Amino acid sequence: MNSIKLKSRAKINLSIDVLGKRQDGYHLVEMIMQTIDLYDLIEISEREDNQIIIKSTSNEIPLDCNNLVYKAADLIRNTFDINKGVEIYIKKNIPVAAGMAGGSSNAAAILVGLNKIWNLNLSDQKLEEIGLKLGADVPFCINGGAVLASGIGEELTPIKGLSKDVCILVCKPDLFVSTKEIYECIDSKHIEKRPNNQFLIDCLKNENTRQLAENMFNVLEEVTVDKHPVIQQIEDIMTRNKALGAMMSGSGPTVFGLYENREDALKCKSILEKQFKQTFVVACEEKGVEVNG
Ligand code: ATP
Repeated sequence: MNSIKLKSRAKINLSIDVLGKRQDGYHLVEMIMQTIDLYDLIEISEREDNQIIIKSTSNEIPLDCNNLVYKAADLIRNTFDINKGVEIYIKKNIPVAAGMAGGSSNAAAILVGLNKIWNLNLSDQKLEEIGLKLGADVPFCINGGAVLASGIGEELTPIKGLSKDVCILVCKPDLFVSTKEIYECIDSKHIEKRPNNQFLIDCLKNENTRQLAENMFNVLEEVTVDKHPVIQQIEDIMTRNKALGAMMSGSGPTVFGLYENREDALKCKSILEKQFKQTFVVACEEKGVEVNG
């Protein structure tokens, strides 16, 4: 096999808590992550020379060694002494720099894809170990689903995820948020309210979406909203338009709302997309990366 196609899926956070900071600067977190059915299509083809070439439909991502997919391919071939190159095509659908782990998910797809192309037979655990060198969200993105993530985001405990019937309205305003800057601000802030992750996990287990939606909480949200009030405005539009609850994902700026009823979600989408082009209605998914031949 010398080429492979994969789906590389985005995530939302149903909660984020920040518990502290490690000496190396990484933050200690406890958060619930959920894969959603919004994905980039990735095609990897082997090259006999040793170049890594990246092509993409997006002009928002780097096409050189700064792209996370370049770093992932280079790391794998250096780790296993492989003297080959690859061409990587990325059809981008996941909003960039959105708090939806788009880059991490693309990197995860490269690890899964090259494991197959180069017959490396690496276990998921080994892939997660390698992924962690690329970023804290990469290990989660490999398998995806629903997890409670702790440590710096790499200690993954699988949990029951959202019901497939729940509609997720996702809206990414057209503004840039620096993840690093938001985490730096949270250091100097006294966190007054935190999510109750065990309660949220129980809500998921009991399929109590209403209680889950009303109790989702992201400690980063106040920091990002202070800088970008439009995030709060999007949440308010969602809750005024029948969302069970709405929250910012990651460090932002994407906002999502949970809906029991698809018609209500589509109605709110039609309101939001007049102002925000990147608005989607999706469901949750069980698999982060999917090989689809
Ligand atoms: P997270 O939720 O993990 O913080 P994010 O959704 O906020 O991630 P990304 O979409 O991963 O952010 O983009 C963050 C930065 O990484 C952007 O500035 C982007 O240019 C860069 N980047 C590098 N490679 C990629 C890639 N393959 N896809 C998207 N962004 C990439």
